Amino acid sequence: MRPNLGRVGAGALIAIAALALAGAKGDSSTSTFHAQIDSTPANSSVTLSYTRPPQPASADQARPVVPLGRGAIQVPILMYHYIRINPDPSDALGADLSVTPDSFQQEMDWLQANGYHPVDFDDLRAYFLGVSPLPARPVILTFDDGYRDLYTTAFPILRAHNFKAVAYLVSGFLGFSNNVTREQVQEMAQNGIQIGAHTLSHIDLTKASNDELTRQLVDSKADLETLIGHPVVDFCYPAGRFDGRVVAAVKAAGYQTATTTQPGTQHSVADRYAWTRVRIRGDEGLDKLAADLSPQEPTVMMRFAPSPQPIPVIPRLPLVYPLELPRLVLQEAAEQRPLP
Ligand SMILES: [Zn+2]
Repeated sequence: MRPNLGRVGAGALIAIAALALAGAKGDSSTSTFHAQIDSTPANSSVTLSYTRPPQPASADQARPVVPLGRGAIQVPILMYHYIRINPDPSDALGADLSVTPDSFQQEMDWLQANGYHPVDFDDLRAYFLGVSPLPARPVILTFDDGYRDLYTTAFPILRAHNFKAVAYLVSGFLGFSNNVTREQVQEMAQNGIQIGAHTLSHIDLTKASNDELTRQLVDSKADLETLIGHPVVDFCYPAGRFDGRVVAAVKAAGYQTATTTQPGTQHSVADRYAWTRVRIRGDEGLDKLAADLSPQEPTVMMRFAPSPQPIPVIPRLPLVYPLELPRLVLQEAAEQRPLP
């Protein structure tokens, strides 16, 4: 089923995506979201439309947020690999990639105590599309490669903090003895862990043939989507290796963002296929983490009804990045007629 549109613009792309998702999942909150996006007047703020239980007006809370409209914002994307005690002291690389469970617990405690809010790439999409502000001090916690300790060690600590995170999975490695299983991925995906792709077999994509490049990108995406039941549109270059050909292939495969291993904390829509990250090493302390997360994006106070959810419910992927800037997206959306 494909809606018959007289004109396909950025707003229509949002609407199509929302409609497709609503059709696929039968999710009434998502279809409401579509309707609101489509009919919102230009320059007004758009609210997410999932239904919360009625709250007394006096229960409204003001909290700091990163307001809509900034083209580039400080959202450190933290990069983790293993959460473990490195089993082989002679393995320098393994040691560098390993954060001990105690250190990880302390880092999550520190983030919580210092007002950081882990968000995911759906939240960032919603921000850049002008749909929803971000909470103060937003960070994204990413875990590369899908090692087994992501599920056994990191996941319980994340859940205890009500923290979202992103797992970049190598789909061909799922179920290996040192990697998460397909069932574990499904459980995590339903409990605050966004799933991103990290190829089929973690090869250097800059050295792959065109056919192999496409296979690594398309097949891993399809495999993960089948597993978790919704689109996977966020990608991570294995070992941070990419070039113009790889970026073009990542776009063509349907991914909307890609992260690197290059350092940095500021991100925009324009550079979304080369988002930088903050590498968290095994032997660094909280002072280093604090320094890496500076400066913080300035915030403003906004009022919200309290959410009954421990993790805010953001509709899953009704959004696509358009070519236009967010402000133009909202105007375009407002001009769209309701879909038939
Ligand atoms: Zn990797």
